[in-house]
Amino acid sequence: MQLLDGVLVSAHIKEQIKQEVKEWQAGGGKQPHLAAVLVGNNPASEAYVGSKVKHCEELGFGSTLVRFDATITEAQLIKEVERLNNDDNVDGILVQLPLPGHISGDSVINAINPDKDVDGFHPISQGRMLLGQPSFLPATPYGIMLMLEYYKISTAGMHCVVIGRSNIVGTPMTILMSRNSDPGNATVTMCHSKTKNLKDFTLNADIIIAAIGRPKYVTADMVKPGAIIIDVGINRIDDATKKSGSRLVGDVDFDNVAPLCSYITPVPKGVGLMTICGLMKNTLLAAKLRTGKK
Ligand code: NDP
Repeated sequence: MQLLDGVLVSAHIKEQIKQEVKEWQAGGGKQPHLAAVLVGNNPASEAYVGSKVKHCEELGFGSTLVRFDATITEAQLIKEVERLNNDDNVDGILVQLPLPGHISGDSVINAINPDKDVDGFHPISQGRMLLGQPSFLPATPYGIMLMLEYYKISTAGMHCVVIGRSNIVGTPMTILMSRNSDPGNATVTMCHSKTKNLKDFTLNADIIIAAIGRPKYVTADMVKPGAIIIDVGINRIDDATKKSGSRLVGDVDFDNVAPLCSYITPVPKGVGLMTICGLMKNTLLAAKLRTGKK
């Protein structure tokens, strides 16, 4: 079994991005700038946004964290997004999800200028991706593709089972894995909560991508020996041995599945770090496209 090490791969990719930013600016390009919008004070969202802003500093990007109280209305939030659309210094806009229940995430995402949609969630980005046109790829699936590429894992002809069909992970993952590309060229099965006999599918999978949101849901009896396991899940479970009283686990029962498989991503230090790489690469691309150079 080989660990697909998010720390190692993300360090490599971040180094490449840092270099590219330096060269871009040395050639007169503008400093890429990410605006992160955070509504309310959900601790997980605070942590994700904090990490994104920290990575901007590390990679030589500018960043702005725009915070709003959870009571902001949908109309006000859309106005703020439009303000960022019109701010020429801002290249990429991300709105940290989930938003409070009274705000439609779709309406807010739809308000983002597609040229600044560095999370790749806007319908225009998703449509371009579906058609195989150049687009901002959703950051997590993009990060997973970068990880497979780094380890030179050729997925052509493999049976890939994606568990989960969200617009931000599961669905785009199925599109990217079935594309005529490498990695890609897989035969893809998409599973979800209404799938009957999930195990029948996973036992036939050469690669399983789990994006479910249920701790340790994929167990050893569901995995074919030698399979590749990509664990997207981030779940907090109680753990009395930890000072905090809890710890993060993925959607895969890592301890029992790891000995069986050929490659596996850990949680934490796996896909999560790759997501940040996807976001940063999109932001740099946005800065370049906006100022007319690639
Ligand atoms: P969603 O809740 O939007 O989607 C979960 C998907 O899992 C749904 O399609 C759902 O099916 C499916 N599902 C739920 N239960 C089952 C089941 N018993 N059997 C089969 N399928 C099931 O979650 P996200 O896609 O946003 O996130 C998934 C996980 O990945 C979460 O733990 C999240 O925290 C994590 N995540 C991690 C990221 C990272 O960077 N590492 C980035 C984004 C998310 P249905 O559609 O039928 O409801």
